[in-house]
Amino acid sequence: MSRRKVQYCFICGKIDQEYCVSLFEVPLDKVDEWQKLIAKPGFKKRSLLCESHFDEKDIDRGFQLGDEFKLAKRRRLASKDVVPTKNLTGISSQIFIRSI
Ligand SMILES: [Zn+2]
Repeated sequence: MSRRKVQYCFICGKIDQEYCVSLFEVPLDKVDEWQKLIAKPGFKKRSLLCESHFDEKDIDRGFQLGDEFKLAKRRRLASKDVVPTKNLTGISSQIFIRSI
């Protein structure tokens, strides 16, 4: 009997199996940088973020082969320099919405 550890997004708590989202691990040398971007304290190495915190162009979904686009089995971040940019404040994001 094998038991798979449930993985979930550090910010919004989405579980990969339940939502079919991809979760990305922070590159080891980027933990401090990512923590500064994420309002929620406690982010550390091995913490995971789901795809909704990244720009579409920063997620590597596969590769072009001739005129066919092959989807990768496992999505990855496009490069090591990718940082999370979206929905970084989780449930308290409303406080950042201000009317002009
Ligand atoms: Zn998330």
